[in-house]
Amino acid sequence: MGVIENMRLDGKRGFVTGGARGIGKCTATAFAEAGADLAIVDLDLETARQTAAEIAEATGRKVIAIACDVTKEAAVQAMVDQVVAELGGLDFCHANAGICINVAAEEMTYAQWSKNIDVNLNSIFLTDTIAGRYMLAHGGGSIINTASMSGHIVNVPQPQCAYNASKAGVIMLTKSLAVEWAKKNVRVNSISPGYIGTDLTLSSPSLQPLIEKWNAMAPMGRLGKPEELESVCVWLAGDTSTFTTGSDVVIDGAFTCF
Ligand code: NAD
Repeated sequence: MGVIENMRLDGKRGFVTGGARGIGKCTATAFAEAGADLAIVDLDLETARQTAAEIAEATGRKVIAIACDVTKEAAVQAMVDQVVAELGGLDFCHANAGICINVAAEEMTYAQWSKNIDVNLNSIFLTDTIAGRYMLAHGGGSIINTASMSGHIVNVPQPQCAYNASKAGVIMLTKSLAVEWAKKNVRVNSISPGYIGTDLTLSSPSLQPLIEKWNAMAPMGRLGKPEELESVCVWLAGDTSTFTTGSDVVIDGAFTCF
């Protein structure tokens, strides 16, 4: 079999958090197109159900929707248990749910800081370790975390210190888990997208004036599209990336190069 056939995910089972829309919906679609059965995991159950039905219809794969707040330990455990029960196992996951709060540091409340860290970083610890425990006990697996170029650089002009710190934490948590589990066949990698056109960026009125400024700074002069992240995630989830662990794949149109 050639490399492209070997990249397929036939027979694999996974889940995507924040999978109802945006980047998560896009990678979930790609995983199913590559042959995987999966769960769309999101706070927003109604949209998750629509997304799951859409992907199942388009790909013929089994796609279920699960309501879960990824910041709640018991909810994440119940979600992983449900994935295993309904899909018959767990081979990969994409821990992707996230939020962004743009507030100047001196005006940011501790509650705003904590919420950003909770959704973007603590949730990754919960998702990765709960999914990881299952994978460690069942022969292995592949975990993909969504970090951000904001884990590498400080975005300007908007102030987003909590987001940047949370994403830098995701990159280092990814590397730490990868090293701890390297001999146990559980791989952990992250992707660090640049600015991507999704509901998070396009539907937020406060971000609209910024998009022109970001594009002026971007070497390619544009936002990325969610579809431009999906092939990397399919590759990381599957069996042609078996020596890739602890990597952070920056996909930013060269934004962080200078
Ligand atoms: P989005 O807002 O379009 O989608 C995020 C999804 O996560 C939503 O469906 C939302 O309901 C869900 N979610 C939020 N909090 C949750 C929680 N506590 N539990 C479960 N689900 C929850 O965002 P997006 O642009 O697709 O971003 C996805 C990920 O990519 C985030 O981690 C984000 O930080 C990261 N990212 C986005 C960009 C970008 O420019 N859009 C760039 C770099 C990284």
